[in-house]
Amino acid sequence: MRIAVVTLFPSMLREALTHGVLGRALERGVVEVGYFDPRDHTVDAHRTVDDRPYGGGPGMVLKVEPFRDALRAARAAMPPGSRAVYLGADGDRFDQRRAREARDWPGFILVAGRYEGIDERFVEHEVDEQWSIGDYVLSGGELAALVVIDAVARLLPGTLGSAESAVQESFTDGLLDWPHYTRPASVDGRDVPEVLSSGDHAAIGRWRLQQSLGRTWQRRPDLLERRAMSAEERALLEEFKRAAAVRRMEDNRVTDERYDEGESNEQDHSATER
Ligand code: SAM
Repeated sequence: MRIAVVTLFPSMLREALTHGVLGRALERGVVEVGYFDPRDHTVDAHRTVDDRPYGGGPGMVLKVEPFRDALRAARAAMPPGSRAVYLGADGDRFDQRRAREARDWPGFILVAGRYEGIDERFVEHEVDEQWSIGDYVLSGGELAALVVIDAVARLLPGTLGSAESAVQESFTDGLLDWPHYTRPASVDGRDVPEVLSSGDHAAIGRWRLQQSLGRTWQRRPDLLERRAMSAEERALLEEFKRAAAVRRMEDNRVTDERYDEGESNEQDHSATER
């Protein structure tokens, strides 16, 4: 898949993309990333890409022309049907669904802003999508571009070692991932759940599904609301909820006992003082 990034700091991405899974995907040619620096599309001696904001106020705004021309150069180098995405905190939330959509595009171009962002006329007229990677403000779109490239590239066949890995991850089936464990079986007095060493693959599968359902219910109930559940899943989740309620009651009982013990010690202590 071809990806292009319009950025004032191409070296930030180049270096980050040499590591791990993504580095290998680039080496193998599963992903190709090209860089288009708006400074290469300036006409003045200072290679100016920003200017003061109309209406006053602090900060600088990135100019339309260098970004427009860099984006047009990127479009010309990309396969037809490629889409251009501006990365900004005020964009649509980038999530696994958008990552899957982007995987099926012929290619895409990510535009990274800096300073106060890019002149609105560029955002309105030159790009096809606007994506935010979360409700916080970054200093530049390069980190957001890396997040998007990583999330999309790992969905491409040939990026991950095992074809299974991406299939079983969080969000793939509208659920969070189940917990993972590795050797040793016991560490600091904490044991791996017994079922995982049982060799009973059906039981392991049920346990994992139950953990995924339970975790999603606890941490991201909004995901469950959007997802239809089978009768088996509903039963597994109910069992998880009952076990969680029992654990909560036990925790409260232990806390109460500790509190009572503390109180009676205090009373004993005050009795000796008197
Ligand atoms: N004035 C902008 C605002 O309040 O939304 C902030 C601009 S920010 C300092 C500079 C650049 O970082 C933006 O142009 C955008 O490309 C990138 N950026 C910041 N937060 C982002 C986010 N949550 N998702 C994607 N890109 C972001």
